[in-house]
Amino acid sequence: MKVLHRTEPIRDDDATLARALESASIPTLLVALVHVTGDPSWLRGEVRPRAAIMGEVQGFLPEEEQARVRRQALEALRAYRDGGCKLPPPPSPETIREMMSFMVGEHVPEEYVPMMLEEMELDGEDVRGLHWEKALPAEVRGRTHVLVIGAGMSGLLAAIRLAEAGIPYTVIEKNPAVGGTWYENRYPGCRVDIANHFYCYSFEPNHEWSEYFSQRPELFAYFERCAERYAVRPQIRFETEVVSARFDAASSCWKVRVRTKSGAEETLEANAIVSAVGQLNRPRIPEIPGRATFAGPAFHSAAWEPQHDLRGKRVAVIGTGASAFQLVPELAKSVDRLLVFQRSPAWMAPNPVYHAAVSDGMKWLLRHVPFYARWYRFLLFWPGSDGLLPSLVIDPNWPHPERSINALNEEQRRVFTAYLEQQVQRNPELLAKVIPSYPPFGKRMLQDNGSWLAALQRANVELVTDGIREIRSDAIVCEDGSRREVDAIVYATGFHADRFLWPMQIVGRDGRDLGELWGDEPRAYLGITVPGFPNLFCLYGPATNLAHAGSIIFHSECQVRYVLGCLKALLERGRATMECRQEVCDSFNAKLDATLERMVWSHPGMHNWYKNSKGRVVTTSPWRLVDYWRWTRAPDLGDYHLA
Ligand code: NAP
Repeated sequence: MKVLHRTEPIRDDDATLARALESASIPTLLVALVHVTGDPSWLRGEVRPRAAIMGEVQGFLPEEEQARVRRQALEALRAYRDGGCKLPPPPSPETIREMMSFMVGEHVPEEYVPMMLEEMELDGEDVRGLHWEKALPAEVRGRTHVLVIGAGMSGLLAAIRLAEAGIPYTVIEKNPAVGGTWYENRYPGCRVDIANHFYCYSFEPNHEWSEYFSQRPELFAYFERCAERYAVRPQIRFETEVVSARFDAASSCWKVRVRTKSGAEETLEANAIVSAVGQLNRPRIPEIPGRATFAGPAFHSAAWEPQHDLRGKRVAVIGTGASAFQLVPELAKSVDRLLVFQRSPAWMAPNPVYHAAVSDGMKWLLRHVPFYARWYRFLLFWPGSDGLLPSLVIDPNWPHPERSINALNEEQRRVFTAYLEQQVQRNPELLAKVIPSYPPFGKRMLQDNGSWLAALQRANVELVTDGIREIRSDAIVCEDGSRREVDAIVYATGFHADRFLWPMQIVGRDGRDLGELWGDEPRAYLGITVPGFPNLFCLYGPATNLAHAGSIIFHSECQVRYVLGCLKALLERGRATMECRQEVCDSFNAKLDATLERMVWSHPGMHNWYKNSKGRVVTTSPWRLVDYWRWTRAPDLGDYHLA
């Protein structure tokens, strides 16, 4: 697909340009100017970004250097405008490599260059879709149908790619709208916590995000727009749920039982299934004794019940993960009393722009300065790439294995602890409650701009750390016998993340039941394919969650590309099915286990939703992004039985 990264011509006056430049990320501007002027000397002067870390988009350049670049940029953009917005020939591949390393203040190794180029699409080529060797014959097209389960971020992506490839498909979506998690999660304060100019499809940038980490309605609107723009909506059956899918060896097809909202059931037939049901889709409410006796409103954060007016009420929030972290500061503003029940605290990383608005100047630059938006994406991606991963590997000789896992992790602990201390200086009791005992990164890190601890220090908020013994009709009773009366309970207690594809019943070859096979021990090859289940492809499957870096959209783009590669192989070779070889899946999983065992998420000192009931990490990937990207560029057909 050719992607038109449209840049609007500059027609504005100098004052507008100068104002917009005030908002510029200088490293991004410098490399964009190489495109605008054709002159690589922007990279070879005195001004050199020192480093790129998350949340720092100025490369640690001193103010006066930034000001100097702005002045020079004004000249260059004025000349570009007055010359009719014509671009010189693009920079050479060598210059582009130089631009990458220059921009982030460190050498970008060669193995990352193609991945980053693909992500940026500087040449306007989107290579992650399917590229046929020869056009798909109408007769083959006529007998092919792919069924996608879910129209969230990854299901929509699959639909967009299938449509682009001309492969007939249907998407089954249980909700009345697209968006998945961004449709369902409506709790106050819900927003993305991956930088939004990166958390969007590589081929569908959005220059209009109103915040760097936008709120839920904007995310939902983005996916709605994508469904329209790529014309996939007519192929989506809303308010329909997949109940079961059974592989029929005689026809080499999947028979998929679906149920509509009215309860009517029917069976659909598909050559292949793409499961895009997400890992965080089925809310989990713990079995606390007496829970059913509670008389007031009680609901899960992901199933918000807006009909209850919580203003002026006594509300309990159970859980202190990413959802509670966003919800509590908002809720605290309007309720009479907020009780936050914490089983274990979370580590958080300071991010001053977490709630910040994107200025008009920044939006102007994204829209008007050629390649600025593309390089800005790179600047967000690079520090969120693989740099952190080595610090998350357990050093078996580390002398303080309870509090940290290696020397770097100990340093992270020191920095994050200082960040907590600085916010809770006058309240040692609270401080003791919010410093985690386990190593940083053991659970999902939270982005923070101070709003969490500010909320916990409000007069109407109490952080309760005693375990919950039971729930009564009007109160929560703790292990120490203390009783707190509440009018409403919000369970921010997470999801059934270790029960993949549940509660659907998936029956593969020879009657194998996926739910029985997996339990909470899911095993897939690359997180995508499963021996015994021909033509079943998972997106965001086992061990594909990202906890060290990246955006799950990047990972989905890798997986969808791989799946389309599999379909291409089947259709071009006139084969009906492909099934992962058992030994390939086993050896991949042996390597996976050995790698995960040494990662911080396996540390026994905490609960997290990455582990199953036996403490084995099943949701999260330990791989470098660049490796997973390479493995998923195209299927190795030697890994499969083709029939
Ligand atoms: P979560 O991280 O699994 O947190 C669940 C919380 O409930 C934890 O604090 C847990 O305590 C607590 N809990 C569970 N059972 C309990 C019980 N019986 N008694 C007391 N406390 C209990 O769930 P989440 O906050 O919904 O987040 C899940 C994931 O969704 C995140 O990690 C993230 O990947 C995604 N998410 C993303 C965003 C975003 O990008 N904006 C926002 C929200 C969620 P323990 O910690 O002790 O287990």
